[in-house]
Amino acid sequence: MRFTVLTLFPEMIEQGFQTSITGRAMEKGLLSLRCINFRAYSDGGNGYVDDYPYGGGAGMVLQAPPIYRAYQAAVGDGPRPRLVYMTPQGRVFNQGLAQELAKEEELYILCGHYEGVDERVLEEIATDRISIGDYVLTGGELPALVLMDAVARMVPGVLSNQESGGEESFMNGLLEYPQYTRPEVFMDRPVPEILKSGHHARIARWRRNESLRRTWEVRPELLEEVELDKADREYLDSLRE
Ligand code: SAM
Repeated sequence: MRFTVLTLFPEMIEQGFQTSITGRAMEKGLLSLRCINFRAYSDGGNGYVDDYPYGGGAGMVLQAPPIYRAYQAAVGDGPRPRLVYMTPQGRVFNQGLAQELAKEEELYILCGHYEGVDERVLEEIATDRISIGDYVLTGGELPALVLMDAVARMVPGVLSNQESGGEESFMNGLLEYPQYTRPEVFMDRPVPEILKSGHHARIARWRRNESLRRTWEVRPELLEEVELDKADREYLDSLRE
């Protein structure tokens, strides 16, 4: 899968993405990254890409022409790509959206800055507007990295078997159960006995119950969307009691 990121701070994206699991996947050729700094497409090459907002008000707005020129140079004669504009005004990102975006062969991402981007270039090139949550950051680079990381994990081969994401939070609609590793006792807290029993069915039931309990305690609204069997419902009833 190829990511093309239009940004004023390519080094932020490159350093973040070239690290750890996504970096290894790039080395294997499973992922690739192209960052385009639209400052290089400023009017007359003067380096300025922002200007005062029409109508007044605080802050600066990123101008449409440099972004559009960078986009055109990247797309060339190819078909119109899917382009996500990272914005707090977008649809809120989640695991389902990550799975959907991972089906694309190429994804373009536009990172805003300052007060945002001239609406007219967004109307022209953005196919999606996505937010990573109800708060405002200084730029779109961290949101882009969040989205890229979550999407990249869904690309076949990016996670090794050991890193497999099949049981992680949200994959089955629930939060994941707690995890333990050595040492067996840490600060007088032993690992739950059941996990050392070797009894796979009982361990699976314990983990499912822990997932249900965590979800019920922290994100009860998620339970409304999950398919529950008889044992799940009985366990949840026991918690409620
Ligand atoms: N004036 C904008 C508003 O009120 O909606 C906020 C602009 S913000 C300071 C600058 C840039 O950061 C945005 O253009 C966007 O690319 C990015 N950004 C900030 N918060 C974000 C969030 N929660 N999700 C996605 N992108 C965000």
